[in-house]
Amino acid sequence: MNILHCDLDAFYASVEQRDHPELVGKPVIVGGLPGSRGVVSTCSYEAREYGVCSAMPAKQAYRLCPQAVFLPPDIPKYIRVSQDVFAILHRYSPVLEALSIDEAFLDVSGCHRLFGSSAQIAKMIKNDVLQETGLLISVGIAANKFLAKLATNLSKPNGLMELGNDEIAEILPSLPVSEIWGIGSKTAHRLNKAGIYTIADLLEFPRSKLETILGSNTDFYIQLCSGKDSRPVLSRSDRKSIGNEITFPVDLADQKEIEQLLLELSCQVAYRVRHASLIAHTVTIKMRTPDFQTFTRSQTLQQGVDADLTIYDIALNMYHQSGLAGKHLRLLGLSCSKLLERNLEQPALFADENDILDKIIDDMKDKFGSAAIKRGSLLNKKGRNM
Ligand SMILES: [Mg+2]
Repeated sequence: MNILHCDLDAFYASVEQRDHPELVGKPVIVGGLPGSRGVVSTCSYEAREYGVCSAMPAKQAYRLCPQAVFLPPDIPKYIRVSQDVFAILHRYSPVLEALSIDEAFLDVSGCHRLFGSSAQIAKMIKNDVLQETGLLISVGIAANKFLAKLATNLSKPNGLMELGNDEIAEILPSLPVSEIWGIGSKTAHRLNKAGIYTIADLLEFPRSKLETILGSNTDFYIQLCSGKDSRPVLSRSDRKSIGNEITFPVDLADQKEIEQLLLELSCQVAYRVRHASLIAHTVTIKMRTPDFQTFTRSQTLQQGVDADLTIYDIALNMYHQSGLAGKHLRLLGLSCSKLLERNLEQPALFADENDILDKIIDDMKDKFGSAAIKRGSLLNKKGRNM
C-alpha cells in the first residue's frame, strides 16, 4: 500500500472561502458568471447540495442555486497555493506525479523508515496542508494508482481511506462503470446500453463483445476492474526535455538577429523549466541550414540551470563555437534536458539578482500573459513574436 492519491477538496472554492471568511458555509461557485456563457470550474460543497457541479453552464448553476456567490477564478493565486501544497507533498516523497493543479500521486515506497506507515504519512500530509494553507485535502491509499484515486473519490470530502485487498473484494464489484478511471460519460452510456452497469457486469461480459465498445483499451480496463494497475508514479523529472524552435520565413544569416532569437528562445524555455519546478543539466541548440542539414550542440553542466541569462550565455557560446555563426540558417531551436526536480537540487547559498528578475518576470507573465513583459533587449525587434 505505497501509492497515495492526494486531492484538495473543492479547491478554487475552498481558497476563496479561506480568503473571504464571510463565504464560509455558503454556496460558492467559481468560474463563469451567471450572465455569461461560462461554466462552473469548482463549487463549494454547499453548492453541490443544490445539484451544482463542475463543467455545468453557469446559467444552469444559477437556476439551481440563485443565492450562490459567483466568483471569477483567480488562477495566479490558485497556482501559488498549489505550489505550496505540492511542496508539502514533496517533503514525504520525491516521487510525485501531478495530475492537475490540485491533485497528485505520491509513491511512498522507501519512505516508511523516515515517516512511518502510509496511513501515518497521509495523516501528516492532511495535517500539514490544513495547518499551513488552511485547506482540506483528501488522501486515498492503495497498492496502485487506480485504486488510490478510487479511495480518494470514495472518501471525499476531508477523506482518508486505505483500500486493502479485503475492501477491494467487497467494494469493487458493485461499483458503477463510471467510477473506472478513463471511462467518460459517453462510454459509460454505451456500456449501460449493452447491459453493463457495474464492474462485476463488465468482468462477466464476453471479451470479444466488450472490445466493440472499449476498443484497443479493453485489456487495460479489464485489468483495472480486477484491481490491477501497473502504471508507475512518474515524477516530472521523468520528462525528457523542454524546448522550443522556430523556422524562419526566410533564411537568416545576420548574427545579431540570430543572437536575439536565441535570447528569446532561452527566455521561453527557461520560463517553462521554472514553471515545472525543474532545473536543467543539459542545454542543447539546434540549427538547420538551407540544405536541410541539422546540427546540434549540447553542453552538460555540473550545476543545474533555470535562469534566462545563464541558459542564453551557454546557448550563445555554443552558437559561436558551432562553426555556423554567420552562416545561413532556416531553423533555430533550444532545449533543456537532464531535468531534475528543483527541490532535490542543492540550493545556491544566495539567490543572485538574475534569479530575482526571473521571478518578477514569471509573476508578471502568470498575471498578464506571456506577451505582457519581455526583456528590454528583446523589444528592439519590433513586431516579432514567437
Ligand atoms: Mg480536487
